[in-house]
Amino acid sequence: MSAVIELKDVHKSFGQVEVLKGVSLAVERGEAIAVIGRSGSGKSTALRCVNRLETIQSGEINVCGHPVHDPKLDVRKLRLDVGIVFQSYNLFPHLTVEENIMLAPVTVKKLRKAEARALAAQALARVGLAEKAQSYPEQLSGGQQQRVAIARSLAMQPQVMLFDEVTSALDPELTGEVLRVMEDLAKGGMTMLVVTHEMGFARKVADRIVYMHQGRVWEVGDGSMLANPQTPELRAFMAHDL
Ligand code: ADP
Ligand code: MG
Repeated sequence: MSAVIELKDVHKSFGQVEVLKGVSLAVERGEAIAVIGRSGSGKSTALRCVNRLETIQSGEINVCGHPVHDPKLDVRKLRLDVGIVFQSYNLFPHLTVEENIMLAPVTVKKLRKAEARALAAQALARVGLAEKAQSYPEQLSGGQQQRVAIARSLAMQPQVMLFDEVTSALDPELTGEVLRVMEDLAKGGMTMLVVTHEMGFARKVADRIVYMHQGRVWEVGDGSMLANPQTPELRAFMAHDL
């Protein structure tokens, strides 16, 4: 098996400050990986490097056959294969849900409107919001808007999906519906890299959990690793977070 996402000894600095200090990780097709760790440990930076939102100083990153570390990378092609969803959903307020989702398929992939509309309908069904196609974002709850943001990404038919704390801005009662959508995606075989504070999601849904600490992959394991930390750092992190 070859990895769909592979980081090899990735170093990333901002100015003089090294924030990724030799990160290596291989994600197989269909795997859902939860990335946990303290604020500032480099989780978002690692995710952003995978999608070339950041460039790296050294190491290698290969994603769906794209050499992401290569200065000559075709960034557009990479991003066709990699969907990313952030904490802020950034839907266009003046467009309907359907129009928000159709935008990238029409403008980036040059699909016909009818095709894009069909993809939007499929994507909305996957996030359980088929009936909201003609609504405007402000008519939806935060959880529903985040599910639309996930649908928008799905409509581009990515090979892998990256999630960066997508439930962190939501009221607690709205996080469940978003996590359930992500669980369905994982069960459906989507390759996912999920930065999250949701330990329940990490334990129950993720195939593997990656604990990052001070710019390094500190521990990797399955759901049982949270109950059995092998390092004092993960033990301390769990003690504070649960
Ligand atoms: P996490 O997502 O785990 O909270 P980040 O990857 O956001 O961590 O940040 C890791 C470190 O890199 C932090 O010290 C942060 O301040 C720093 N950092 C992140 N982005 C930038 C940036 N654009 N410029 C300078 N420093 C940054
Ligand atoms: Mg972050």
